[in-house]
Amino acid sequence: MLANTNYQISLPAFGNQSATTVDCGKVICVGRNYAAHAAELNNPIPDEPILFLKPITSLCSFADKIKIPTHRGAVHHELELALLVGQPLSHASIDEVQKGIVGVGLALDLTLRDLQTELKKKSLPWDRAKGFDGACPISDLLPLPDDFWNQPSHFQLFRNGQLQQQASTDQMLFKMDQLVAYMSTQFTLLPGDIILTGTPAGVGPLHPEDEITAVLSGQLEISARVTGETL
Ligand code: ZN
Repeated sequence: MLANTNYQISLPAFGNQSATTVDCGKVICVGRNYAAHAAELNNPIPDEPILFLKPITSLCSFADKIKIPTHRGAVHHELELALLVGQPLSHASIDEVQKGIVGVGLALDLTLRDLQTELKKKSLPWDRAKGFDGACPISDLLPLPDDFWNQPSHFQLFRNGQLQQQASTDQMLFKMDQLVAYMSTQFTLLPGDIILTGTPAGVGPLHPEDEITAVLSGQLEISARVTGETL
């Protein structure tokens, strides 16, 4: 089946800005941004961010249903804080980053873990493990709280009622504004681009019929049921 060829995300009204709908662009992700997650997969802690992209066809709604491929080995959940870019950013300063990020939410960086392990062993790119159709379920995005850049955000993932992942953004190895500034030195970020800021420890396999709940403390709670697909 043909995947989404475009994906729109809504941003509610805030301040003197009215509600809007944004066409999403690329999804920029970072690997190993939490020390405990790097350790659980036996990876060294990087001294600069490890970036990779997910294609627009990976975006889908993180509500209701999450479709996972059933014939491609283990599919792991990686819950991550997601940011929405609102202004072009190139070689951006921290101040420009803080003004240029206009939305926050939660996303799953779904990963074909067996395939990724095999690709890593061969020193090959991870794209096939990270970029399949529907590999990036994303919540609605919300305007940033006033103190967003100074106060840590907390988020949690429950699978079948059991806590699997939890993190505070002050545990990140690369702080979010520094991370976005770094990304903008590697390629231009455009309005509608989505940034995934890395997953904390506790990643694990999803199975059809699992019930997933993700919480961004004080802001967002979403639930979805996992269904299997022969993608
Ligand atoms: Zn990830």
